Amino acid sequence: MSQIKRIIFSDLDGTLLDHYTYQSIAASETLAQLKSADIPVILNTSKTYAELETIIQDLQLDTPFIIENGAAVYIPIGTFASQPDDTKVVGKYWVKSFCLPVAHWLSLLSTEGKKFSGNFQGFSAMSESELALLTGLSIEDAERAKQRQYGEPIQWLGDEETKDVFINHMIDLGANVVQGGRFLHLGGYCDKGQAMLWLAEQYLEHYIACSSAANQSHVVTPSLCTIALGDGENDTAMLEAADIAVQIKSPVHDFPSLHRQKMTTQTSLYGPEGWAEAIQSLLVEQLT
Ligand SMILES: [Mg+2]
Repeated sequence: MSQIKRIIFSDLDGTLLDHYTYQSIAASETLAQLKSADIPVILNTSKTYAELETIIQDLQLDTPFIIENGAAVYIPIGTFASQPDDTKVVGKYWVKSFCLPVAHWLSLLSTEGKKFSGNFQGFSAMSESELALLTGLSIEDAERAKQRQYGEPIQWLGDEETKDVFINHMIDLGANVVQGGRFLHLGGYCDKGQAMLWLAEQYLEHYIACSSAANQSHVVTPSLCTIALGDGENDTAMLEAADIAVQIKSPVHDFPSLHRQKMTTQTSLYGPEGWAEAIQSLLVEQLT
């Protein structure tokens, strides 16, 4: 006998948060229903730890989260019975890192980026007010967005041809360059899919341990069903790796192409409206 445990992995900007307003009101009721149904919602985003700390409070989440495009997983201590292997304690979290720290990538940009001078501007070179103007974030949010630990978002100012040359040059030097909703993200070879699969494995071990501890007369083996939601190119690895993939409609670009076709849906509504629409339809039997 098997018991299916569902876990939701969700992008933020343009997915759970509206692309323009950064609001998630349309998904609030669905989030509350998921909490009641004990279905974890794991934020999986290009945002920083500093940004997530505020956002999880606003969304009233107490679940693990994945920062900076899969660079690290933050698990509130006590989520599982024991500390997962290969994690370190940072404040009130167990943290699993997948990439080199930001200092490595800034050093690469400062030397190799010279050839592309004038074609781009990185977050670290922007003031809080410049970043706020560019993104529509408040000054406080822009300050949190700048606190990156694993990579550097870049605003591309040049033409597309030069951008391709820049991306290929950085890739040759060991960097991973991913196009997000607004920025190019330069960092190590991590992605949202790899981090999702690692965390899903920790959950599965946890659920199996809980099920054995319950000492039931009818042995129930838990299995996982991962549901991933995202709108951008940087969500592709996560969407490809999930059991169920939901592409959220974007007001600024087409649906990125996916290789997978089974268990894949595209929403008709944008951002958090599309998010709620998809979850309600997928989990109609689990949510009341
Ligand atoms: Mg997005």
